[in-house]
Amino acid sequence: MARSFVDEARRRVGPKKARIGPIVERLKAEHADAQIALRFRSDVELLVSVMLSAQTTDANVNRVTERLFEKYRRPEDYLAVPQEELERDIYATGFFRQKAKAIRGTMAMLIEDYDGRVPRRLEELVRLPGVARKTANVVAAELGDAQGIVVDTHVRRLSQRLGLTRHDDPVKIERDLQRLVPRADWAIFPHLLIWHGRRVCLARAPSCPDCVLLDLCPSARP
Ligand code: SF4
Repeated sequence: MARSFVDEARRRVGPKKARIGPIVERLKAEHADAQIALRFRSDVELLVSVMLSAQTTDANVNRVTERLFEKYRRPEDYLAVPQEELERDIYATGFFRQKAKAIRGTMAMLIEDYDGRVPRRLEELVRLPGVARKTANVVAAELGDAQGIVVDTHVRRLSQRLGLTRHDDPVKIERDLQRLVPRADWAIFPHLLIWHGRRVCLARAPSCPDCVLLDLCPSARP
C-alpha cells in the first residue's frame, strides 16, 4: 500500500532529471537571499568558522567568532597562546577540546605547507587536521571553486523528500546530486535546500500547501 503510494507519487511528478531544472530555478526565486549564514572576513576566518560550526548552530558560532576574530587575526595567533586559552575562547561552540586541537593543527599546516593561506583543492583541504569532506566542501564552495555538494541534515532530508536520491549515506547522496545538479549550481544548491528546509520544508511539519515545489515533489501532502 505504502509502496504503491510512493510509486504513484513518483509517476505523478515525473523523472528527477526533468524536475531538477525547475526545482533549482524556483528555489532561487523563492530564496534569493540564500547564502552561508556564518560571518567571516577572510579565507582563514571562513575555515575556522566552518570548523567551529560542527554540532552547533551558525548563530552560536557567529556570537563566538565576533570576539575570537578580534584576538586571532593570523594563523600564527592560534599557536601563540596555550591550547587551554583557545579552548576557553571557543568553549561556547561545544566540543571545544577537539575543535581547539584541530584548529591549532590546521593552522600549523597552513603555515608549514601553504604560506599561511587556505588551499583551494578539496584533496588539500581534507588533509588539514579535523577537516572532513563536508567542511572542505563548504570552504571550497565559498572560495568560489565548488568541487562537490555539501550534504547536511537539511540537504539530506529535502533530497530524499524530493526524490533526488534513495540513499541515506551522505557520500552516496552527494554522488547522486553531483550527477543531477548542473555544476554551475553546486555551490548555491545546498544553501537553497538549507533555507527551504528551515523556512518551509521543516523536519517535523513541512508546509506543503505553501511550497513552490508542490507539483514537483513526490512527498507533497496538500
Ligand atoms: S512539497 Fe512538502 S515535502 Fe515537498 S519540498 Fe515542499 S514542503 Fe517539502
